[in-house]
Formats: sequence, structure tokens, C-alpha cells
Amino acid sequence: MEFIDLRTQYNEMRYEIGARIQTVLDHGSYIMGPEVKELEQRLAAYTGATHCITVSSGTEALLIALMAIGIQPGDEVITTPFSFVATAEVIVMLGAIPVFVDIEAETCLIDVSRIEQAITSKTRAIIPVSLYGQPADMDEINAIAEQHGMVVIEDAAQSFGATYKGHRSCNLSAIACTSFFPSKPLGCYGDGGAIFTSNSALAQAMREIRVHGQSQRYVHTRIGVGGRMDTMQCAVVLAKFDYFDWEVEQRMRLAARYDQLLSGHIDVIRQRSNRTSVYAQYTISLDNRAVVEALLKQQGIPTAVHYPIPIPMQAAYARFCPNPHFPISMIMARKVMSLPMGPYLKPDDLSRVADAVLLAAGAGPTG
Ligand SMILES: *Cc1c(COP(=O)(O)O)cnc(C)c1O
Repeated sequence: MEFIDLRTQYNEMRYEIGARIQTVLDHGSYIMGPEVKELEQRLAAYTGATHCITVSSGTEALLIALMAIGIQPGDEVITTPFSFVATAEVIVMLGAIPVFVDIEAETCLIDVSRIEQAITSKTRAIIPVSLYGQPADMDEINAIAEQHGMVVIEDAAQSFGATYKGHRSCNLSAIACTSFFPSKPLGCYGDGGAIFTSNSALAQAMREIRVHGQSQRYVHTRIGVGGRMDTMQCAVVLAKFDYFDWEVEQRMRLAARYDQLLSGHIDVIRQRSNRTSVYAQYTISLDNRAVVEALLKQQGIPTAVHYPIPIPMQAAYARFCPNPHFPISMIMARKVMSLPMGPYLKPDDLSRVADAVLLAAGAGPTG
């Protein structure tokens, strides 16, 4: 059993993926070829956002978004301590200061009730993370941001395809960033990402920043980066995208089955009723994680921890938080464990995982 089964997915789609890649080899436009625009149009239409700008990774997407809103050294950006490090890294890269706001234990999403007290005269933006595939409390976050003149950038690296009150992730705030890292819900075969917005001025700025701040060939009106997503990777996402709706349904079905088998016996990360998750991870919370991890490993069941150390506790980030106080993040970092998940996970394997977890956690088999 694999933690995320990309091989079965490839076998399902090998003809379409091969044909798409062959087309790129035939036309030879490896950079900014026709597949780039085709993908941008399809993804924008899917999310409902007016503009989609593909970029070289999810990290680059976040960096370009922050550059486009003019984040300067000394500015503060509020985000969650409980995420992949890239969320905070891009803030620091621009000389700005990440201000961490603790999470809710039930969902591991940023705790909206703690955001206001973190705002200062220097706060310019909020980056909520749609962790494990589930959007945060975006209405409340947008309302707070509007009140204080701040921009909301959804880190949707794990949540492409999820919904919040009927709207798609990547179209829930001024800007959203996603990732096509191979193991994400919609992945390519290398690095890739995309930025979404319905603000045309921001879209134009981000298109320019993606290509060295270039407004016309060799005319550089702003500082930019080399951040394009290559045509080949766009072709791979296009091939996979035809299967995406089905895959999201499968993910939800399998997560519901995990819920059914596990909840009531052990703590699972909660799903809020007004939104959906694409379950980039199916995550549970355990008091005896090390024991369960070891017992599952013995049975050939892979697991992972997202994430074992909150960002402010990482050595490189300590200087931004001389007195870190993130009690919920600290507890969840010790307790969370993600189980094998993906559209091609076999129901029998899922049952085997659930039984093994229940037994190892001391809650008895499912019977
Ligand atoms: C994966 C991920 C990123 C970074 O995406 P890359 O494409 O790997 O650069 C950023 N934020 C979160 C929450 C992620 O999960």
C-alpha cells in the first residue's frame, strides 16, 4: 500500500497524458506554449475566478502574490503556525514579518477569534491555509481584512477542488495560490502552481512579475522573478484535469468511509458542515501517535505527520517569535497523523488501515 498512489492514477490516464506530452514535443513551444493558456482558462472557469496565472510552484505563487500587493520590508503578514513552511517562508523572503495566529484544535485551521488581537498598524495581509484540503473561515477572515484594509491570500495548495458555502477554493478571497506538486490533489509531474484573482490590475501585475517584471519584451516596469510553469507540466495537468471531478468524488467517498469506521473511537480532523474538503490528507489525532505509527509500519501501512514542528518553533523562524505561545499548534503537532488517501485507494485497503488504527490506538477492531 502506498501513502499516495500516483502509479495507479498514471496507469488510468497514461494514454491521455502521453498524447498531451507528445503534442508539446511536436509543437516545441516549451515555454508559454498553447497548453499554458488552455490550462489557465480551464482552471479559471472551474474555480469561478476571472484570472488564473500558472507559475513554477505553489511557493512561487505565494511569493508573486505578496510581491503584487506590494509587501515591503517591515510589513506584517498574519498566517498560521501550523502549515508547510512555504507559507511563512515567502513572507520572510520579502523582508516582511510573519505574525502567527494559533489554530483551532478541531480543524487545525487558523482560529479566527484570535486574528484581531494580532493586527497592528503594520499588518498588510492575511494568509489563511486551507489545510488538509478544507478552507478556513473565509467569510469572517475577509470581513476582518476589509475592516483593516488588508488583503487575504488563500494558501490553497492542498484544497484545489474544495468548496466553501458553495464557492470553490481559489475563489474565496482577493487572491489564492495553489500547487501542482505531484502529491497534491491536482498534481503535475514536477513543480507547478497557479494564482487566482478576479482583480484585473492584480492579475496584470502578477503576470508581469512571473516574467521578470516585464510589461513588454525587454521592458521591465517592476521587479519580478523567473516563475513560469513550463508547457509540459501544463499539458500533464490538462490530461489529469478531465478525471479531476471523479477523483474529488472518490476522495470524499473514501473520507466518509474512514469517518464512519473511525469516529466515535478516535479523534478525526473535523469537517465543517458549510464546506467540503478534497482530503489532500485524511488526518486523525492520537494521544499515542508514536505507538500507532510503529504498529502500522510493521503491517506495511504508511503514515505521515503534517506537521511535526509548528513553523515558529523552527530554528530559522525563532527570531520572529521570541516568546512563542501556540498551545493548540503544539498539541496538534504532537498528535496528528495522516493515513493513506487518494482517489485510487482500494476500499479493502482502507478497511485494513482503519482496523489497524483502531487496534493500535487501543479502541478495538471495527468488528
Ligand atoms: C505544498 C504546499 C506549498 C508549496 O507548494 P510547492 O508547489 O511545493 O512550492 C505551500 N503551502 C502549503 C500549505 C502546501 O501544502
